[in-house]
Amino acid sequence: MMNYKPVTEEVLEALRKAVGAEYVMTDPETLDKYKTDEETDPHYHHLPEVVVMPANTEEVAAVMKIANEFDVPVTPRSAGTSVSCGAVPVCGGIVLLMERMDKILELNKEGMYMVVEAGARTLEIQEYANKEGFLYAGDPCSADSCLIGGNIATNAGGNKAVRYGTTRNQVYSVEVVTPTGDIVTLGSTLKKNSTGYCLEQLVMGSEGTLGIITKATLKLLPLCPYKLDILAIFTELDKAIGVVPNLIKAGLNPTSVEFMDNGFVRSASDYCELKLPHYEDGYYVIITVETFNEEELESKMEQLDEICTESGATDVLEADERVWKIRRNCLESTRVLSLISTSDDLVVPVDKIAECIEHLNEVSKKYSFKLLCLAHAGDGNLHFQILKCDLSEEEWEKQLSEFHAEAYAYVYSLGGRLSGEHGIGAKKLPAMEKYTDPVEMKMMRAIKAALDPKGILNPGKVFNVR
Ligand SMILES: Cc1cc2nc3c(=O)[nH]c(=O)nc-3n(C[C@H](O)[C@H](O)[C@H](O)COP(=O)(O)OP(=O)(O)OC[C@H]3O[C@@H](n4cnc5c(N)ncnc54)[C@H](O)[C@@H]3O)c2cc1C
Repeated sequence: MMNYKPVTEEVLEALRKAVGAEYVMTDPETLDKYKTDEETDPHYHHLPEVVVMPANTEEVAAVMKIANEFDVPVTPRSAGTSVSCGAVPVCGGIVLLMERMDKILELNKEGMYMVVEAGARTLEIQEYANKEGFLYAGDPCSADSCLIGGNIATNAGGNKAVRYGTTRNQVYSVEVVTPTGDIVTLGSTLKKNSTGYCLEQLVMGSEGTLGIITKATLKLLPLCPYKLDILAIFTELDKAIGVVPNLIKAGLNPTSVEFMDNGFVRSASDYCELKLPHYEDGYYVIITVETFNEEELESKMEQLDEICTESGATDVLEADERVWKIRRNCLESTRVLSLISTSDDLVVPVDKIAECIEHLNEVSKKYSFKLLCLAHAGDGNLHFQILKCDLSEEEWEKQLSEFHAEAYAYVYSLGGRLSGEHGIGAKKLPAMEKYTDPVEMKMMRAIKAALDPKGILNPGKVFNVR
């Protein structure tokens, strides 16, 4: 870690000059609010020394210049829905809130793009695009609360990534404030571009360690007018997951393929006070297809029914909003079961997902915590929710770290990685350093050191700067 200096009255005064006194907050209540993001385990919480809310790109740049001058770390924060402690100020210093920069600036119908400030809410972007007859295809399950800058910084995935890719596939260009306080636009509204390094893609997914995204130009697609959601219910895990390659190989090009194990089916159904068939023993697979004409939808509907039944589904039902409500509330529902829990976001090759879930379920039987699993199954992206329940603090830490050691080594042996969409944040930093090829790690450190020589921007995330 670098040698950071405390936030002194001199620093506060400089910040007040840069963004206005009312947007520089040091009261204990505000500081306490920003000590965590979605992380419930107090072990990971850290208080910032000051919370700053800039109004525009120039103010963000001014804050970064002050931070460099006074050696104060800066943690950018959008909505704080990170589940990997990405927005936790692990070294104290400044939390930089992006929420005042929330405007949708332009929707260009001819060029099919949208220009937004980084603090615009993802749901509002989606709805605005829909209203104009377009699709913005980024769709994390947290869309109603998260902000686009947070999505770009984490390269968020979500329900539609199986068809459209993750957030980095939805972005033409980003305006960025560099760690040293320069302003630059990376990328362009071009279909193809072989002009130098692809720096916009380097910044996207860098979790706020290489630059602060202040504005973005987003790609739009024509909106499919026809849509069908299917709930396929299985009573055997391998069959439920086995349906995924069959759907892909049949060329159905689904928009979503979401898997919930029975633990999640029960907890989310209870939480939503909804009971669908096979609540007691079902594995749910929600499949969405979208088309531009009715005949194609009907034909895909028949194909879907056939493939699911042949793959061993007990029931194939047309899904209504209740099914998506259950899916969306999976994470929330576990809070009722255990106040403290941890989310794991692993990714394996799509053809290895069934064996991975089965293996890790088997491994988890050695432990006393409760393990629930859901997956963006079409992407090979698994989310394990591990619930502390009645374990003592000491046992919880011990069991979790043993399970993680076993799970991560296994996932890497399958060709997988530590995160499919949530990022490394502070939580998986030790594992990142352990499992990443040393040469790859050296390259990442060299990039970070070149762009952020003082290690000011979001320290303690992704890997340690040495
Ligand atoms: C219920 C629930 C469901 C979720 N579902 C999904 C899902 O389906 N798919 C998925 O990918 N994630 C999901 N997440 C995780 C989370 O919502 C995403 O990671 C989201 O992209 C974070 O956005 P945010 O606005 O909350 O960013 P924050 O949590 O505030 O920040 C996330 C990271 O980005 C950095 N950052 C934030 N803003 C900027 C910026 N403007 N410039 C540079 N860096 C910045 C922060 O420092 C931090 O490292 C879910 C979380 C919850 C709680």
